[in-house]
Amino acid sequence: MATLPQRTWVEINTAHARHNLAQIRRAAGKRSIMAILKANAYGHGAVEMARVFSREGIDAFGVGDSGEALELREAGIEGPILIVGAVIEGEMPAVVERDIEVNLHTVEMAEALQKEAARQGKQVRVHLKIDTGMGRLGMQPFQAVPFLHRMHNLKNLELVGLCTHFSYPYEENPNFTLRQLERFNVAVDVARRLGFDNLTLHAASSLALFRRKESLFNMVRPGVALWGLLPGDEKGLAKKLKPVLAWKTRIVFLKDVPEGQPIGYNRTYYTPNPTRIATLPVGYNDGYRRALSNKSDVLINGKRCPVVGLVSMDYTTVDVSAVPNAKVGDVVTLIGKDGKQEIGAEDLAAQAGVSVYELLCGIGRRVVRVYC
Ligand SMILES: *Cc1c(COP(=O)(O)O)cnc(C)c1O
Repeated sequence: MATLPQRTWVEINTAHARHNLAQIRRAAGKRSIMAILKANAYGHGAVEMARVFSREGIDAFGVGDSGEALELREAGIEGPILIVGAVIEGEMPAVVERDIEVNLHTVEMAEALQKEAARQGKQVRVHLKIDTGMGRLGMQPFQAVPFLHRMHNLKNLELVGLCTHFSYPYEENPNFTLRQLERFNVAVDVARRLGFDNLTLHAASSLALFRRKESLFNMVRPGVALWGLLPGDEKGLAKKLKPVLAWKTRIVFLKDVPEGQPIGYNRTYYTPNPTRIATLPVGYNDGYRRALSNKSDVLINGKRCPVVGLVSMDYTTVDVSAVPNAKVGDVVTLIGKDGKQEIGAEDLAAQAGVSVYELLCGIGRRVVRVYC
């Protein structure tokens, strides 16, 4: 069967991903690294990226839910996969069967998991998640301490780790993060006194890894830094990293319109002069957000061309008057470099009024991922 040529795609630069992992390794020293691949590896493709990092000898993978964990196993990814999020009872049979590691958040969850593991005659590797101030998942320290005392009753659960998550590791005033660390250290001490002394302790996501050396313990959990990005105000740190993802599309339609012509839904834009308009096959269904309407630029033949009119579900219109030789089929860069011009994922996210995480995760399923 003939295959379709790409209309809208992302290019994933795996060499850059390996470079970023090397930078992370430098910052992490001898500690082990759990690559966080939730949300389809922030839009980069979880299975493919797991293969890349497996070849680099990564220690473990972290995912958001059971479905993501099973997807990696089905694809033949071996080695530790930890579900950092919540596992519900109905998911436990498959999770236990495929040797997925689980973060424990409640006593009830631990008991249900113990029951399922016993039923299958298996040992499940578990990490106890301590809620030190994030307020989302995990046991409060006052619940974790008695739980640790009772842990030896749960014969089919092997406690291999203790972890927590910071609410905001990069603020100017680190007091809250330090409080979170203190609470975590209390739980760590209790576990040690109870004889759990080979535990993997992990707390640091990307920014804490580069910013809060006292939070690295013996494993780190970077996500966004693998993709060459760090949140907003951290451009300096991010310079060591290389962006992995570029987002491209093609002109599918071109027309010359006179002055005063409305463009797109709701007529939010009228051409001020005779204008050449290109239509691009990318819209908010692909994650090119409607908030970018009349705001962002795209790159064509090394030139910036503004988006004009509202971004619709499947299409976006741009003013290509700056590129007189533009033609149907020309490649258009939404994120990435073209000649001397560059549009960073963080720039586009800022224009859309969202975090770079949200922008990347939002790149739609029908956008083909090309690995190079
Ligand atoms: C998403 C996530 C991470 C990674 O965070 P980044 O800021 O992308 O590095 C680490 N740990 C947990 C529990 C997460 O949910």
